Formats: sequence, structure tokens, C-alpha cells
Amino acid sequence: MPNVEKLIALLKSHGFKKTPARIRVLEILTKSSKAVPYSEIEQQLKAIADRVTLYRLLISFEKQGIIHKTHDHLGTVKYAICSSACDAHAHHDEHVHFNCIKCSGTFCLDTVVLPNITLPKGYLANSYQFAITGICKNCMS
Ligand SMILES: [Zn+2]
Ligand SMILES: [Zn+2]
Ligand SMILES: [Zn+2]
Repeated sequence: MPNVEKLIALLKSHGFKKTPARIRVLEILTKSSKAVPYSEIEQQLKAIADRVTLYRLLISFEKQGIIHKTHDHLGTVKYAICSSACDAHAHHDEHVHFNCIKCSGTFCLDTVVLPNITLPKGYLANSYQFAITGICKNCMS
């Protein structure tokens, strides 16, 4: 169970005031070992935030470097909490996202070292995503 004080401090460090909806979203994302589908967040926030509020909340969190978005192998939009290296200036979530075909879980694999990618002349990268599809360790055992 994540400590609410910690979540409030996290909000504050990214320039947010505490609101029940903001705290709830962080609670959901920090509690989960996987990236959480948008639909699930929406379902859990239904009682305290309408669609527009939630939409704006997620966009502002993403902008300030608290959370990041990914798409799994089926195209489902999922959100995960950022590493502390992210801030409003830049995200540093260029880690591998592992999508499990058995449980449909998406995991942020921060410890995997990504190869250095060299683009052809004339191309400038803004961001990149690296996704692997397969079977996760929970489903393997
Ligand atoms: Zn990030
Ligand atoms: Zn799995
Ligand atoms: Zn991630």
C-alpha cells in the first residue's frame, strides 16, 4: 500500500496541488507492477472524476514527467509511473516495454540496456519506444 504522504510529495515536486483524483491515479499506478490500461483507470476514477477531467489529468501528468504512456501489442493504451529521472523537461523512459501474450500484462523493464540506435543521415529522433512481445515471468512459472 503506497503511503499517501509520499504521493502528495510526488505531486508537489512536479508542481501539482493534491486533489482526490490526482492522488487516486498515482495510487493505482504505483500499486501496480504492470502498466495500467486507460479503461481500468477510468473505471476506478468513475466516482470522483468525469472523462474530461481524467483525460486532462493524464495529459498534465505526462507533460510534467510523472507518468508515461505506452501501447501494447493489441493497441491498448496503458499508463505507467515514470522513473525519478523524468521531469517536465524530458522523459527518460526509453526502456523496454514487455507485452505478455498470455496475461496481456505490459511491464516496464528498466534494467534492460538498450542498444545505441544510429539513424540514417537526415533523421532526427524525438523519442523512441522499444517493445517486446512474449511470455512474462509470471506466466512462465
Ligand atoms: Zn517519463
Ligand atoms: Zn503474463
Ligand atoms: Zn514504461
